[in-house]
Amino acid sequence: MTRSEELFNRALKLMPGGVNSPVRAFGSVGGTPPVMVSASGPYLTDADGRDYVDLVCSWGPAIVGHAHPAVLEAVHAAVDRGLSFGASTPAEAELAELVMGRVAAVERLRMVSTGTEATMTAVRLARGFTGRNLVIKFAGCYHGHLDGLLASAGSGLATLALPGSAGVTEATAAETLVLPYNDLAAVEEAFAKHGQDIAAVITEAAPANMGVVTPAEGFNAGLSRITSEHGALLIFDEVLTGFRTGYAGYWGLTGGAAQSTAPFTPDLMTFGKVIGGGLPVAALGGRAEVMDYLAPVGPVYQAGTLSGNPIAMAAGIATLTAATPDVYAQIDAASLELSAAVSSALDAAGVDHSIQRAGNLFSVAFGTSEHGVRNYEDAQGQQAYRYAPFFHSMLNDGVYLPPSVFEAWFLSAAHDTRAMDKVYAALPAAAEAAAAA
Ligand code: PMP
Repeated sequence: MTRSEELFNRALKLMPGGVNSPVRAFGSVGGTPPVMVSASGPYLTDADGRDYVDLVCSWGPAIVGHAHPAVLEAVHAAVDRGLSFGASTPAEAELAELVMGRVAAVERLRMVSTGTEATMTAVRLARGFTGRNLVIKFAGCYHGHLDGLLASAGSGLATLALPGSAGVTEATAAETLVLPYNDLAAVEEAFAKHGQDIAAVITEAAPANMGVVTPAEGFNAGLSRITSEHGALLIFDEVLTGFRTGYAGYWGLTGGAAQSTAPFTPDLMTFGKVIGGGLPVAALGGRAEVMDYLAPVGPVYQAGTLSGNPIAMAAGIATLTAATPDVYAQIDAASLELSAAVSSALDAAGVDHSIQRAGNLFSVAFGTSEHGVRNYEDAQGQQAYRYAPFFHSMLNDGVYLPPSVFEAWFLSAAHDTRAMDKVYAALPAAAEAAAAA
């Protein structure tokens, strides 16, 4: 038995499924997950000393690579000043300024610790601001594990083939309308029926939790138009895309880098992952008029003992500072090159597939070449069974992919030629394994 297997078997007795977040458990790909003990640049190292090229990057945060020297230095310096003060610190404002300097739609920001908290607060704020109850979400979009948004939620629920979660009351579920993604007509129809009662539409800026799905031309702008016509808010969830798909996130890619040229402006946005560079930071931000409904200024309550924690702020500041426009250009190019290599390996093995892309995020879907994946129905209809043998072949050759076909692949600025060559060398065998499935 390997050391990893010993450690995972111990964990199985101590934690449900041996994990603290379900997709880490290899539920849909099978096998025992390697237990990781360190990470550096583009590599993860497991308990047996095996190195893997990491294409998960902590599910997004490690955009400048693991253990980046400037990030570690900032964190060490913050640690030396004390761990948590329960009072305001200069670093909170510094990180907020960095975010606002990049995303002009954010006029006020509130730091929280997880993406779930950010979206949960955004939904409560939208309800408090509008005085309405209903929220529209799209099937296959994941916004964290708040009760109201777990229906048809993608991510781990897609991996485990769950329609929603036990423990969510019918009354809560009834306040969420779930619509097909990329279907503006369905949104128009829902507003025609329930417009007076809809507080918000929440959407991933580009879905990446049912695999990656490209928002159809004008879809996001259409949501903005429809919500504003009906006095509802648009919550643009950039927890995954923010500061990853570009300097100003996915909104920036759609022309939103400068508000004056933006084709649309979300009322609220949520951030996570990259904003904390690997420590627990997330945030919600948006129009000052809406954000000022939050306590202590307004009547919508939200709080957090560790919100704006100084160590976490230091990691976020150092990460955003290191993530220069050059970093995004490099990741964009690496993503194009890698996805093309994946595609040609699959072509060579005769595996029907589509590369699903939104900016530098991509995923692979199987048996979907006809029209790609446009929504959750397409995602669920794919030949998902081809992914497990593909994944394990790559893992065997030292490449750590997301352990589910419904997740995006993540690159970092640290993925150099040596790391990428290891990935390219592993692809042909993995494609053959997918073909044989
Ligand atoms: N929104 C999106 C788009 C996400 O991808 C995620 C996490 N994958 C969340 C919200 C929830 O974030 P967290 O896991 O930090 O609660």
